[in-house]
Amino acid sequence: MLKFDVVIIGGGITGTAIARELSKFDLKAALLEANMDIASGTTKGNGGVIHSGYDPNPSTMKAKVNCKGALMYPKLAKELGFEYKNTGSMVVGFEDKDTEVLNKLYENGKKNGVPGLRIIERDEIFKIEPRVNRAAKYALYAPTAGIADPFEVAIAFAENASENDVKIYRNQKVVGITKNDEFFNITTQNREYQARFIVNAAGVYGDYIAKLVGIEDYEIKPRFGELLVMDKAIGFELNTVLFPLPGNRTKGIVVIPTVHGNIIVGSTARMTEDKEDISVTKEGIEELLNGAKHLVPDIEKRFLIRQFAGLRPVETNTNDFVIEASKKVKGFINAIGIQSPGVASAPAIAEMVRDILSNEGLDLKEKKSFNPYRTPILDFSELTDEEKDELIRKKPSYGRVICRCETVTEGEILSAINRPVGAVTVDGVKRRTRAGMGRCQGGFCQHRIVSILSRELGIPKDEVLLENEKSKLIFGKMKGQEESRE
Ligand SMILES: Cc1cc2nc3c(=O)[nH]c(=O)nc-3n(C[C@H](O)[C@H](O)[C@H](O)COP(=O)(O)OP(=O)(O)OC[C@H]3O[C@@H](n4cnc5c(N)ncnc54)[C@H](O)[C@@H]3O)c2cc1C
Repeated sequence: MLKFDVVIIGGGITGTAIARELSKFDLKAALLEANMDIASGTTKGNGGVIHSGYDPNPSTMKAKVNCKGALMYPKLAKELGFEYKNTGSMVVGFEDKDTEVLNKLYENGKKNGVPGLRIIERDEIFKIEPRVNRAAKYALYAPTAGIADPFEVAIAFAENASENDVKIYRNQKVVGITKNDEFFNITTQNREYQARFIVNAAGVYGDYIAKLVGIEDYEIKPRFGELLVMDKAIGFELNTVLFPLPGNRTKGIVVIPTVHGNIIVGSTARMTEDKEDISVTKEGIEELLNGAKHLVPDIEKRFLIRQFAGLRPVETNTNDFVIEASKKVKGFINAIGIQSPGVASAPAIAEMVRDILSNEGLDLKEKKSFNPYRTPILDFSELTDEEKDELIRKKPSYGRVICRCETVTEGEILSAINRPVGAVTVDGVKRRTRAGMGRCQGGFCQHRIVSILSRELGIPKDEVLLENEKSKLIFGKMKGQEESRE
């Protein structure tokens, strides 16, 4: 049996941020993730906006962590080497009466401690973002908002936690938990773990994990949301994140620049019962494009290259984040119901969980050897020609371009596979390197990535998976087919 002080259940952005925070201390911690890779739940399917924090009601848990989390991003990005852009954001109003809503958001934001909020008018709006609908009249400008790739952030947290001795176990689905006076015994499909403390960060399954220890207080239902990715060929980038006036329960259809130069449009919102179904719809495309064109008329359907979806884990009793120690089961901490803005809030949630653990009796002694820095995967496309030449001379694998759309080399893919918490699936390679994220969406490079994974992991090609055991890519040879030339 593997023994730990703390076991975190769930390897999304919430669980990995907590793992990284705990890696600063002298203790034994582990993270258990059910899927083949971390960041493969809701964390892979969202808009990546680091919301500034004007939106949540000041009395909520969301308000406590959103603004604080967003302000932690610039430093974290430097330490962990992930891409982050402080783009700011605008909530755009088109009529005089919209100033009422904008003023309310402004006041709300001030109460939440969001710095620098301002209501601005036409000249300044178009100066910040020339592509906004010319009918725009007013906007709430939030200078501290930003953008990041949520899975890149979670992977960076996990890698840094792992380098600082937190054990990250994937393919470990928690199916049972028992407790005696001192320890929890945690059972997965094939192993047992022992821990003094459990942190439940299991996303849409947060209520299931709580029920395993007899806590029936929570009900998590998914709020399904779809998003679109526009091709870089659209010919322009956006400087800032653009919101319409918010709806009753959501922030409306938002137009979002990405750190890599695409535009994302998101998100729809619909409550569902199904905790697995992220299949996208035709109606979603229309709803999203209509919303996007209202804010940025130049967005056109023909530049759409991908549609994807995610499930916001909504705790239905509170419609709020639940970040607390259980009063019923000593040592069991919940970080669940982390619907939007969970990406923005994750760093602050991690600090809050750290403090809760300390209050519950976990001894937090700072670890002298803690290294806050992570070296990211080198981005070959960013190098100068001279640097490229020199690298290829030293490591010829950087001379083989595998993904042509995003210019990703074999060297980068090897690095993605052979690092701590490395990629083991085709989607894992994609989230770490962007191979397959471009215009052809993997049409050119997918089979080449399968070959590299097969070679590096020492498994036959037909055992290389897209994402999980349900997404087999190769079923056998076609009649007359010769060995692949790769
Ligand atoms: C459409 C959409 C748009 C969004 N846009 C934004 C945005 O722009 N900005 C923002 O801040 N937030 C946004 N969000 C919210 C954000 O995505 C979530 O708040 C965040 O990803 C939640 O992370 P998590 O780690 O709590 O959950 P998850 O990422 O779902 O992680 C939970 C993990 O637990 C694992 N797990 C479950 N059961 C078990 C088990 N039994 N054993 C072991 N592991 C288990 C899962 O496999 C999963 O990996 C959006 C969400 C959606 C759906």
